[in-house]
Amino acid sequence: SRPVRVSVHLHPYGDGRKLLLSRDVTALEQAEAMRRDFVANVSHEIRTPLTVLMGFVETLQTLQLSNEERARYLRMMSQQAVRMQNLVQDLLTLSRLEGSPPPSMHEWVAVSTLLRRCEDEGRALSALLTQNQPGKPHQITFPTAEAAQAAGQVAGNAAELQSALANLVNNAVRYTPPGGSITVAWDVEPDGSARFMVRDSGPGIEPEHLPRITERFYRVDRSRSRDTGGTGLGLAIVKHVVQRHGAALQVASVVGQGSTFTVVFPPSRLRTPPRSLSGGGP
Ligand code: ADP
Repeated sequence: SRPVRVSVHLHPYGDGRKLLLSRDVTALEQAEAMRRDFVANVSHEIRTPLTVLMGFVETLQTLQLSNEERARYLRMMSQQAVRMQNLVQDLLTLSRLEGSPPPSMHEWVAVSTLLRRCEDEGRALSALLTQNQPGKPHQITFPTAEAAQAAGQVAGNAAELQSALANLVNNAVRYTPPGGSITVAWDVEPDGSARFMVRDSGPGIEPEHLPRITERFYRVDRSRSRDTGGTGLGLAIVKHVVQRHGAALQVASVVGQGSTFTVVFPPSRLRTPPRSLSGGGP
């Protein structure tokens, strides 16, 4: 049984008696505490890059620097500005998701388009992150164009689905060292549901962290997150989008071997082309 907090109010009657009124305010207080935590977290996340940025400004103002040094400082300043920009972008996305009605069930998005965009983004990010690193690029595998075509359509908001699925692919790329592998699959199950699956050969996530990684600003490895442009809000956004689409997010991970993030779409959200169109059948 959960602890219960009550607010108590004594209501006086004219004859001197009093009526004790009590109200359960546990949920209210919890919501208020979460809001306070969130504001504190946001403030901290903004203050850190801002402090670094101000430090660089001061250095530029007070020290005589060579042109190369100046250029280096400006690059670092721009990184911090981008960090704040990403944070604001993700905060806006979260608040928009929270304030808007669930996406339409009557708009259909081609799975092949979603997969192709995820692949383009994932490969571009991999190229960016491995350009200055020795070793091999990531080995990235996606379903073939034919398989993607046969996967049909999913009901919902194209932009939201796109950003959520790409986020899982991007995370796999960001947390997997160069030379590692990332495999993306779209599997249709016998019961008619479908699974979008991203498997990586990255560091994996300890079991004690797993239940918390979709919380806002929860990070297992703060520096890896920051170095690769993470805001700590990505999975919170993914979870929101997935839930709004009647789907479920699952995570399985083995430390030292890698992680698998899966989005399960229920049959009611899917539409597959007739077999004759997909070229199947005897
Ligand atoms: P971030 O911007 O920090 O990546 P996310 O919400 O996307 O924020 O992820 C939360 C945390 O979950 C990350 O900081 C990281 O510790 C962990 N994480 C997410 N994806 C992976 C992955 N594919 N492999 C290992 N750890 C991951």
